[in-house]
Amino acid sequence: MTSFEDARRIILQQVAPAGVERVALLDAVGRIIAEDFIAPRDMPPWDNSAMDGFAVRSADCCPGATLQVTDFIPAGACSRAVVGEGCAARIMTGAPIPLGADAVVPFESAAQGEGTLQPLRPVRPGDHIRFQGEDVAAGEAAVARGTLIAPQQVSLLASFSAVLVPVYRRVRVAILSTGDELVELGKIPGEGQIVNSNTLALAAAVKQCGAEPTIIGIARDNRESHLALLSEGLRADVLITSAGVSVGDRDLVRETLRELGVEEQFWKINIKPGGPTAFGVKGSLPVFSLPGNPVATLLTFEQFVRPALLKMMGHTRVLRRTVPGFLVGELRRKSGRLSFLRVQVSVEDGRYLVRSPEDQNTGKLTTTLKANALALLPADRTEYRTGDQVELQILDPTLEMEE
Ligand code: AMP
Ligand code: MG
Repeated sequence: MTSFEDARRIILQQVAPAGVERVALLDAVGRIIAEDFIAPRDMPPWDNSAMDGFAVRSADCCPGATLQVTDFIPAGACSRAVVGEGCAARIMTGAPIPLGADAVVPFESAAQGEGTLQPLRPVRPGDHIRFQGEDVAAGEAAVARGTLIAPQQVSLLASFSAVLVPVYRRVRVAILSTGDELVELGKIPGEGQIVNSNTLALAAAVKQCGAEPTIIGIARDNRESHLALLSEGLRADVLITSAGVSVGDRDLVRETLRELGVEEQFWKINIKPGGPTAFGVKGSLPVFSLPGNPVATLLTFEQFVRPALLKMMGHTRVLRRTVPGFLVGELRRKSGRLSFLRVQVSVEDGRYLVRSPEDQNTGKLTTTLKANALALLPADRTEYRTGDQVELQILDPTLEMEE
């Protein structure tokens, strides 16, 4: 059996960024930029005023001085004004600093007369001027390769008029369910049948990572059906299968994948739930064979598939951070495997408190809906008391938000 850490390491070693495409600036949001963005010019492009006020020569602004206002420079102006000795230009925020001036006196620091002003405070050279290139210098890598594009990067890229942005492309993920008991969504299940919910659950999880799900359908529990649909799935960038990977009489996924040239890297991980997971590769194409139990399917996706998809889309931080949580109540369990408990966590006095981990029945999907975090309990520890520390993966990003 492969350990949790080894399984993740093997998977992440086998996958690499899938490729680069140029997309419209807004479509780059949430994706990783694949090249350094080199600033084509200085930002700001010229010295400009940081305030509404007067452009002045600082040397003229000794206490009690009165300056003549000889010009008006609004934002957007293309000013050829020159501020002569004893003079000033009325200037708006963002407008270019006129020749001769070396400081701006804000309105609130000036006493204004008829076409004149008196500075009320000492003025130093450079006051209230934004200098050319002080934000970004031409030639600088203003957004580094590997950065996640968020509104602040969009703002900067837009200020340089970047219409198209090179980003790692979204990976196409084929999803295939297996089992004679399955009927497609929308059909009424007959006796012994269940709806193929895993395909939808996996497609949702793939979408949430920013990848593109392709639903292949249901492979029936016979070799021909498995061969046909698995071959189809192997045409995507990634293949995920659900069920048929255990030791049941009709569990055909592993042997059919082998027949199709997929090299298995491991089968069975020392975790609970989700133990009977397999991973293989065909060339650069990773194949994840997840267990069919819906709780285990989503849990193994979260632990193994999500990090791989993120890495393939250029992300460098792909594992969820774990944080310490503190148990409220007692807990006893059997040792043997690393367990992922679906728990409810609340933030109290800046600490994560972990409540009601009692019901861990992997047959109950609702335990997943009620949980906002996973608690990772190491294989060898069997007893916990109130106040004991446990490692948590926070699943709900809204957990730390106010109501
Ligand atoms: P298996 O891995 O084939 O032994 O299936 C384990 C359990 O998962 C069984 O209870 C199946 O009915 C259930 N299951 C398998 N495939 C799906 C699916 N696509 N959607 C929902 N449940 C499934
Ligand atoms: Mg089955």
